[in-house]
Amino acid sequence: IAAHAGLDDVYATVVARNAGDDEFHQAVHEVLGCLQPVLDRHPEYVDAKIVERLCEPERQIVFRVPWTDDRGRIQVNRGMRVEFSSALGPYKGGLRFHPSVDLGILKFLGFEQILKNALTGLQIGAGKGGSDFDPKGRSDAEVMRFCQSFMTELYRHLGPNTDVPAGDIGVGRREIGYLFGQYKRITNRYEAGVLTGKAPDRGGSVLRTEATGYGCAYFVQEMLATRGDSFDGRTVVLSGSGNVAIYAIEKVHQLGGRVVACSDSTGYVVHEKGIDVDLLRQIKEIQRGRLLDYAERIGADATYVADGRVWDVPCHIALPCATQNELDEHDAISLVDNGCVAVGEGANMPSTPGAIGVFRAAGVAFAPGKAANAGGVAVSALEMQQNAVRDSWSIERVDDKLRAIMSDIHARCYETSEDYGEPGNYVLGANAAGFVTVADAMLALGL
Ligand code: GLU
Repeated sequence: IAAHAGLDDVYATVVARNAGDDEFHQAVHEVLGCLQPVLDRHPEYVDAKIVERLCEPERQIVFRVPWTDDRGRIQVNRGMRVEFSSALGPYKGGLRFHPSVDLGILKFLGFEQILKNALTGLQIGAGKGGSDFDPKGRSDAEVMRFCQSFMTELYRHLGPNTDVPAGDIGVGRREIGYLFGQYKRITNRYEAGVLTGKAPDRGGSVLRTEATGYGCAYFVQEMLATRGDSFDGRTVVLSGSGNVAIYAIEKVHQLGGRVVACSDSTGYVVHEKGIDVDLLRQIKEIQRGRLLDYAERIGADATYVADGRVWDVPCHIALPCATQNELDEHDAISLVDNGCVAVGEGANMPSTPGAIGVFRAAGVAFAPGKAANAGGVAVSALEMQQNAVRDSWSIERVDDKLRAIMSDIHARCYETSEDYGEPGNYVLGANAAGFVTVADAMLALGL
């Protein structure tokens, strides 16, 4: 990681304590790899063992989630919440329902969340939770019963000033509604601020649904501007077709770009005229259908490719918005060879270390997820503010704040990268700037 033996020792401890949690090791490795110059300037962080403390979650909660499916059979899943850091505010971060979820995945996501939430400049700590429950193919009633059972245990660990979950993969407005209903039922308290991502007419914030995708586009717009470039007239390829992807496409189109391809777990679609975001939203959000249905509805203008790599489609800008490690070194080489000059991560850690290395060597502008996708959690924090005073803000007000927050995050990352002698290295900028914010809070609060 660095010449400094201290960081190597911390990493070795993380690996030993979290055997097999590869994604967590990967996330920690990337951050520690940026910290040597920060620690050189701040010996007080070394004395206070800030890095060691940061890599160990404050608390990990694991629980049983029994529920009944539509055929009357009992199912058992595992529920988890990793409460990683409360140095900057209540634990804050999403819930993911996906068969791949285990403690290792949640530790990686919770760890990323610490620095991401710090970068927003808002008072939010970091956590992540979820379950190995697979919502795919489950009826609405099954999802409701699962959410109720999940919250029947989790509620005792939550509170508007304690831990405030939101959505992530597999958890959207519907799930947040069922979870909130159960919290309210059990506690007999209408504490709107205990969960974010609620419907705007039931205590939610306008633009929370759109925030991650919009914020990612705003960040990349700022990054392009530092190079005298913009979305205008540019071709964009994006992975995913869920909540982040849909609203990234919408905003890219508003900013003058054209998203020509997107993907789901079974393949990708190329639509040279530009993805029809209304149709995509209808198929994915309302019908919970597949991308193949999109291609069939469009007809001759769209091509569906099963099992291919969306990164083989030529583009100027790439936005990975699906999941971790979805873009590897091979994909990165293909993107660079086809003329890609900028990458913005809408998902959490979608690029492998090898891919990031290729982008850096090729001079591609690269926006890491913890900076580029912070718009979602930032609007969650705005939702908490509205809940605290029982108010609802206008779209204009929330959008102005989201834009300003993304612009500030960009500026902080860029200035920090300059400060450490590597202008435009946003990985270094995001990790160093986020780390200093949390480290100062940890020092101030004492051991
Ligand atoms: N799951 C989102 C993220 O990765 C949002 C978390 C939140 O709004 O609390 O940042």
